[in-house]
Amino acid sequence: GLRTRIEAGQILFRQGEIPDSAFLIESGEVEVRVRQGDTEVVLSILGEGDLVGEMAVIDDSYRTATATAITDCVLYRVDRRQIGERLVAADPIIRALLEGQLKRYRGALAALQGQSLPDTSTPSEQLGIDKIRLETQLREALAGHALELSYQPILDIPADRIAGYEALVRWQHPERGPVSPAEFVALAEETSLIVPIGEYVIDVACAAVSRFARAGVDPVPFVAVNVSARQLVHPGLVERILARVHHAGLPAGSLKLEITESRALDIELVARVIELCQRHGIRVALDDFGTGYSHFGQLHRLHFDTVKLDRSFAHAMLADPRAMAIIEHLAELGRALRTDIVVEGVETGEQLAELRRIGCRYAQGYLIGRPRALGEWLASA
Ligand code: C2E
Ligand code: CA
Ligand code: CA
Ligand code: CA
Repeated sequence: GLRTRIEAGQILFRQGEIPDSAFLIESGEVEVRVRQGDTEVVLSILGEGDLVGEMAVIDDSYRTATATAITDCVLYRVDRRQIGERLVAADPIIRALLEGQLKRYRGALAALQGQSLPDTSTPSEQLGIDKIRLETQLREALAGHALELSYQPILDIPADRIAGYEALVRWQHPERGPVSPAEFVALAEETSLIVPIGEYVIDVACAAVSRFARAGVDPVPFVAVNVSARQLVHPGLVERILARVHHAGLPAGSLKLEITESRALDIELVARVIELCQRHGIRVALDDFGTGYSHFGQLHRLHFDTVKLDRSFAHAMLADPRAMAIIEHLAELGRALRTDIVVEGVETGEQLAELRRIGCRYAQGYLIGRPRALGEWLASA
């Protein structure tokens, strides 16, 4: 069974064996010894509530020591799969730290026995280390203002003018070149690092609106900033956004938030965000509509000012009459709900011509313009 008794003097496991479990000591004492030449060195004496033999289970290796009962003991057997499942589910950075510690411990034990271990790292350890490095570099980039915003124009189709821009964050990585936000935003979201990044993006976007205004662009185009559902759960985030927008003194309607979703929206939370924002002249868009977590239930329950149709629809619209019908009727639905519809990912003149024909109001995509630095748009405005 899982609960086992062993008598004083009995060996629980031997150095060099391949383990199938660790043990939790319920009562009694266990001595852990390691061979050093002809003698044995006592590493530790463990008692009630201690785990013994978990190391080899964690890094899937041989026993580094021998464990012997000093007194009669009652033990619980902890199956290696029980630990393995948790390790697989653990944060990769935590796993890398653990594996690094074990490697050092095994190295120290080997040195004690006059041996040396090859310096290898497991793929999962390497993955975790790469992540720590990237996260550290990202913190550095934020502190050193190495994060930049690119601006992608959004066309008002019937008026044939640029209504606003979407701000897309870019990281110029010293060795890897530009890193996609799809990669580092997810990384930042795993910790509170996403909070200062989000605030930085808001500040830079507010400054961009002011520069359009100072350059005499009239009407002043809006700038839309991406905020992930994961960012919204940080308490006080919206209040801090509002404070920064107030501080910048922007005209109402010139800043927009695009809610992007990496997970299901907390409807009540988002309803509160929308309400607060609208009261302060900030419009809110639902991003990537028609994919993942962005769906009809949210149109019905949340009063978004704008809905952005995922680019897969524009991509399919000319070849697939169903995609075309969805765009056409979403445009109509937008009018009925008084919600702006933006079709994303417009890449060809034919797609734009069709959108114009069916009465679609806004388009975004490489045809209208690629994301570019603010200076380039100011120069051409
Ligand atoms: P998104 O909000 O859906 O942004 C649109 C993405 O599609 C951008 O990629 C843009 O460069 C790309 N795109 C635009 N037009 C076209 C087109 O015609 N064809 C194709 N194939 N692609 C097009 P990007 O810049 O790599 O951004 C990826 C995602 O990263 C964004 O998706 C957004 O969810 C997220 N993101 C970007 N900036 C931020 C930010 O400041 N904060 C947060 N939380 N997320 C951000
Ligand atoms: Ca977006
Ligand atoms: Ca989008
Ligand atoms: Ca997206």
